[in-house]
Amino acid sequence: MDLSAANLNDQQLQAVTSGEENTLVIAGAGSGKTKVLIHRIAYIIANFNVMPYNILAVTFTNKAANEMKNRVQEMITNPASGIWIGTFHGLCHRLLRQHHQEAGLSENFQILDQDDQTKLIKKIHASMNLDELKWPPKKSQAYINKNKESGLEPKDIVCGNNPHEKPLLEIYKNYQEQCKISDLIDFAEILMRTYKMLRGNDELRHRYSEKFKYILVDEFQDINNIQYMWLKALAGLYDPEKQQSTVMAVGDDDQSIYSWRGAEIAHILSFEKEFANVATIRLEQNYRSTGNILAAANAVIERNGGRLGKSLWTDGDKGSPIYIYNSTNEIDEATFIANQVKSWTQNGGMLQDAAVLYRSNAQSRMIEEILNRHQIAYRIYGGLRFYDRSEIKDALCYMRLVINKDDNAAFDRVINQPARGIGKQTLSSIREHANSHRISLFAAAKALCQTNELTNRAQTAVTKFIDLIANINQSIATKTLGEAASVIINQSGIVDFYKKDKKEISQAKLENLDELINAAQVYNNPDDPEATPKLADFLANSIIGAEVTNEKDSGNAIDLMTLHAAKGLEYSLVFLTGLEEGLFPHKMATIEENRLEEERRLCYVGITRAKQKLCITHASTRRFHGSENVQAPSRFLHEIPPELTQEIRVKRSPVAHNSWNQTAQYRKPESPRKTNVADRGGANSNTFRLGQRVQHSKFGQGTVLNYEGDKSTGRVQIRFKQGEKWLVTSFAKLEVLN
Ligand code: ATP
Ligand code: MG
Repeated sequence: MDLSAANLNDQQLQAVTSGEENTLVIAGAGSGKTKVLIHRIAYIIANFNVMPYNILAVTFTNKAANEMKNRVQEMITNPASGIWIGTFHGLCHRLLRQHHQEAGLSENFQILDQDDQTKLIKKIHASMNLDELKWPPKKSQAYINKNKESGLEPKDIVCGNNPHEKPLLEIYKNYQEQCKISDLIDFAEILMRTYKMLRGNDELRHRYSEKFKYILVDEFQDINNIQYMWLKALAGLYDPEKQQSTVMAVGDDDQSIYSWRGAEIAHILSFEKEFANVATIRLEQNYRSTGNILAAANAVIERNGGRLGKSLWTDGDKGSPIYIYNSTNEIDEATFIANQVKSWTQNGGMLQDAAVLYRSNAQSRMIEEILNRHQIAYRIYGGLRFYDRSEIKDALCYMRLVINKDDNAAFDRVINQPARGIGKQTLSSIREHANSHRISLFAAAKALCQTNELTNRAQTAVTKFIDLIANINQSIATKTLGEAASVIINQSGIVDFYKKDKKEISQAKLENLDELINAAQVYNNPDDPEATPKLADFLANSIIGAEVTNEKDSGNAIDLMTLHAAKGLEYSLVFLTGLEEGLFPHKMATIEENRLEEERRLCYVGITRAKQKLCITHASTRRFHGSENVQAPSRFLHEIPPELTQEIRVKRSPVAHNSWNQTAQYRKPESPRKTNVADRGGANSNTFRLGQRVQHSKFGQGTVLNYEGDKSTGRVQIRFKQGEKWLVTSFAKLEVLN
């Protein structure tokens, strides 16, 4: 293979062309780790006399996996579809589907997403009469997931009489039992079960470690215990007598952002010890970002202790300064972004080269709203996914119940959706019967109807529901996947329900349901495109595979995502938003030093996504849960050397709270200034801007929250110490403070 056109530096070339030894590439952001990994795959296929299916490549997001597949395909002549490229969850799910019997699952097993998991845990708490205040469901959920991430089933846990852990273990046991009855597995279980299946089945493990002669892992710093053990099983480390696979792991300890999900940087050190013949390669040149962006990233991450230590340099230009915009509130922040994006495209920039990053999903709502208003196409990664919408989840749960009537989570969701007159009392009788007989809710409902233990009305309604599911099941037996989806959605009654409701939102829901039918019609199993598509695959993949949503425009659109989802990606223009204490760093992190370091790594990830232009925004006030909070700038802002930054001021012509225009001006901060409204030729509301501090002769100092009208009729809403007030500007005699 001719690598001369690949533009690899010496260290990168060494990694790409290494022989049969294991390789660890530890290097900073943008130094070409992913590039090395992709070229390595092509190099292996060209030089080592192996087929694509002998290669396994793992990464952390579906987006990264798809990109990897496409980029490899550009370099090789064989179809890249043979390579097993995917996320840990995606690849493990594929193994479980192929070997469901060995894994102790039925052919149609389904996946319990996080929401369903919380709901199930709440039900278990209720059945155990646990006080929610003392035993918050989130705590049980974390306990269960944490143990699964360490590979511990309830039977592996010894807690003696520890009063804190005993009930948690009991909850974990009950939870596993409920999942078993329903043939459901959660995300953490996908990994644990695959690992246990491989560990406990020599024949299967040998088959796969034989098959995967080359294993490559991107973002290795974020690997957790169970993923690491899975890797060892597949690489043949548990079979010393066999030949081991050749493994390449690439990562950056400074970008470890999943310790809350059990990721441990220690695995980087273990890898060097536990795998034979590890060559460690360091890459030090950054090819992604301008000098200023890189210097800012380095300055921030330097504050962390316990780093493996790397130096990163670029021979590129310093580039433009890092722009900092202090908005009055989140509306102003989003408007600023929209205006910046517009001038970016007006100057020839492409929308898909820009991204808006935020710490928490909730921040996206306002940004979406304003982008919509400015007619800027956007795409969201993560957040509320198409498959998480309530009508879509209802439809999927009908599908799940049709192929597996014992799926309790699905039963629970749709038994009375749309309403069929099955009340709480009936449901709790069904639940009690199911619990005491250790059977599924569906089986319990059927049993109660057969023995006439329900009221007449309830019995009629429940029987009708049971018959409905059975009839649908029969009628889809010979149908294609697309037809089956259509039958299920139409017969379930949800379509009629939304049709009767004339509201616009119901119309949108009907369109979404149509979209789901379309999705089923064109679905091909990505792991096995030749096979006839099956409903069970479609359902499971809709949960595992879907990261992209709200796709307003599949081509030219700006990307919106959380910082966690941005790992590994790069954009010419990046907006890093909400740099405020308590938001980023997250308020939990301000209490614990370890978590603060993780937040700082997240900030490093954010900064290093930018190639040319980085805009950081922070709002002076921000609404959370319905109340407005005064926000202090994030400490991370102070950690960026001021000489690398430039503050942006915006000239505004405000008219109303939610429809103002901005013209950006770049200038150095000015010294504070006092203006008296009267000096400007009479008070009017157009003089104010949101968040502005004002002085009132009676109420003292306050902050402008809103205004309407103009000139003599103008009103302004101000928050004073003693509360919020609307004042008529011509009478209020307000003094504007800077
Ligand atoms: P991250 O830590 O963010 O995942 P990374 O180390 O994986 O970053 P890549 O995404 O592989 O870095 O590369 C960053 C950018 O630098 C890409 O645009 C890539 O094409 C470019 N690049 C990498 N190596 C070189 C090189 N030798 N010459 C020119 N460009 C390069
Ligand atoms: Mg990368």
